[in-house]
Amino acid sequence: MTATTPPPRLEIRNLVRRFDGQPVVDDVSLSIAPGQVTCLLGPSGCGKSTTLRMIAGVDLQDSGTIHVDGKLICDTVFRVPPERRAIGLMFQDFALFPHLSVGENVAFGLKGSDKRGTAKRLLDRVGLAHFIDHFPHHLSGGEQQRVALARALAPRPKIMLMDEPFSGLDNRLRDGIRDETLDLLKEEGAAVLLVTHEPEEAMRMADEIALMRAGRIVQQGAPYNIYNSPADKGAMAFFSDIN
Ligand code: ADP
Ligand code: MG
Repeated sequence: MTATTPPPRLEIRNLVRRFDGQPVVDDVSLSIAPGQVTCLLGPSGCGKSTTLRMIAGVDLQDSGTIHVDGKLICDTVFRVPPERRAIGLMFQDFALFPHLSVGENVAFGLKGSDKRGTAKRLLDRVGLAHFIDHFPHHLSGGEQQRVALARALAPRPKIMLMDEPFSGLDNRLRDGIRDETLDLLKEEGAAVLLVTHEPEEAMRMADEIALMRAGRIVQQGAPYNIYNSPADKGAMAFFSDIN
């Protein structure tokens, strides 16, 4: 019997997306294991959100493939719709429904009988179970963000895509919420692709950093390897404002 290595949870191969003929995502490949956090790090406009949108299935690549657990979910011919990709999403401005309670927000879209129990468990995990019957406007920005995280994790996504989710939070709150988020994501075992333009955030959260510039991944590896041995002057400059 031969031992088989499980396929990566998420694997994107040679993704290309052009707008007006110009490649905005230019041959991007990445793979992420369950429980692994990969940060797509790069300056504004380099193609990070476009990459995420293709993985989420709300945009379609011009070429390249996306596999989840070794199964093809998208190429240029075949396409699993976004709602069947087992992908959780979290954005900076991913607002809660104002007319639903915190518990109903977390349970939204869940099927089955114990929706409230699931909501309670996740709210407990982010320290907000006591707010289950409150409405979002009673909560601070940081608390709402934690509820959004609980909601994204409620359907047990295999993959979490996070697009600068902490950018709207003030500095005082951000570190605590980042650490808490990371703990919860690790515990739930999702493969995480976290987009950020802040090197410090990537250093803090990533198992692996993929450094992106002008649509291409220019360097990929463990945070300290990239920090200590940047591939080129651009990478060095990008990291130079961390202290
Ligand atoms: P990032 O998230 O790294 O800031 P984006 O992926 O949002 O970058 O955008 C990358 C580039 O693609 C930008 O120059 C942006 O203006 C362009 N772009 C993004 N979406 C579209 C679109 N729908 N049509 C035309 N250009 C787009
Ligand atoms: Mg973006």
